[in-house]
Amino acid sequence: MVNSIKQIPKAEIHVHLEATISPALCRKFAKRNNIDLSEDLFAGQYSYFWEDFYDFIKKYDIITSVIHTPEDYQELTYNYLKECAADNVIYVEAMISSTHAKQKGMTYHSFLEGVIAGARQAENEFDIVSKYIMNGIRHLGPESVHNTAKEVLDNPNNDLVGFGLAGDELHYPPQLFIKTFDMLKQERFPITVHAGEWDGPERIRDAIDLLHPTRLGHGVRSIEEYELVNYIKKLGIVLETCPTSNVATKIYKDYQDHPVKKLFDQGVKITVNSDDPPFFNASIAGEYNVMRTLGLSDNELKSLTRNAIEYAFCDKNTKLKLLDKI
Ligand SMILES: [Zn+2]
Repeated sequence: MVNSIKQIPKAEIHVHLEATISPALCRKFAKRNNIDLSEDLFAGQYSYFWEDFYDFIKKYDIITSVIHTPEDYQELTYNYLKECAADNVIYVEAMISSTHAKQKGMTYHSFLEGVIAGARQAENEFDIVSKYIMNGIRHLGPESVHNTAKEVLDNPNNDLVGFGLAGDELHYPPQLFIKTFDMLKQERFPITVHAGEWDGPERIRDAIDLLHPTRLGHGVRSIEEYELVNYIKKLGIVLETCPTSNVATKIYKDYQDHPVKKLFDQGVKITVNSDDPPFFNASIAGEYNVMRTLGLSDNELKSLTRNAIEYAFCDKNTKLKLLDKI
């Protein structure tokens, strides 16, 4: 008997917390923080309207700019985890941005406390476990990324389990961030890097060799070079793929054209993720469903969850408990 997608235990390790904000929550925060939002941002109850990639970046900034306080972060975190739990998601590792929080006047600690309060509340009510990855933003430059990483290392926190590199991949290559990622490596701090979403194989190789990630955000354009796919397999790097995100931003024309199934078939360790869910009308359950339509069996779908947990940045005990649920 085939299980429903809901019955498959799921995990998500590539989602930008600020970008999980639902239209309803966006309106609520805007009202609470006295921000005027134009109605043409909204595309119905579940998603936002944008035209092309540059418009997406612009709208992304406007929409996430309504998140102003630690209480907003708490509610945002709780709401997203609640939604996930309803879809039988057992673990979420979300990327967060202290840069965003500081731009809105929060401190590093106050924003993190907001996030963790939301995480605890959701864990108590829905038994969903979540941990967090601090993102450095490439297009704010190497110094900004370095300061963000330094702050993470100087303030150890059990819920903050990794460091990520996000933002403009095309204009800010891995070479610029070597110093920061050497420092993180030296402290054995887990690393994931967005690579091979917009840029091709050469930059993926640079990201791997220069920044020492154990996971790649997207990484799907590795398919363009046979040797690179083998290299990723040999190193045991897991790909945080986000098929709906890539189709929505027109990197691939449809799911058939997307390389996720080919990478899976070639034996690369794959996870599927929603990235910026309401911007793409995506959900983690939806991504699992995409994989089912591409031909994965229930056991293969569960192997995606197992990959996510095994490559998660959380502690061993948490992993063992989660693996038990699959
Ligand atoms: Zn991403």
